[in-house]
Amino acid sequence: MTGAGRLEPPVGQGAEPFWEGTRDRQLLLPWCTACRRPFFYPRPFCPVCLGRDIEWRRASGDGSVYAFTVEHRTEGVPFAGGAPFVVGLVALDEGVRLMANIVGCPTGDVRVGMAVTVSWEALSDGRHLPLFTPQPGERAS
Ligand SMILES: [Zn+2]
Repeated sequence: MTGAGRLEPPVGQGAEPFWEGTRDRQLLLPWCTACRRPFFYPRPFCPVCLGRDIEWRRASGDGSVYAFTVEHRTEGVPFAGGAPFVVGLVALDEGVRLMANIVGCPTGDVRVGMAVTVSWEALSDGRHLPLFTPQPGERAS
């Protein structure tokens, strides 16, 4: 069901390396070389020091659910799979948070602090959308 019914995200300014990485299912984070830490969302400059010396590093893909909401109605906005679905704020082990769907378990099993790992959904143009699934030890029995 490649991209069927999915609103596909645009490539924002400064986010080109991020999306190129998703073609190979690699989760890349922009790191500020002055601050020596990653930031997110991708943009052409560091949000802390405004520096433009940025390098891209591959993230582990592991993190935990920082916050989430279960969407029961989509109000006509097309999302693959339809409602209900989970929109989560995932705290990556590298120290940044990103918003993504939490999949791979019943919506009622998602909880704050749950360990998750990245998985990928193919988009129509060769990119992949990062999603997160519970790490094996987190799955409900
Ligand atoms: Zn910086």
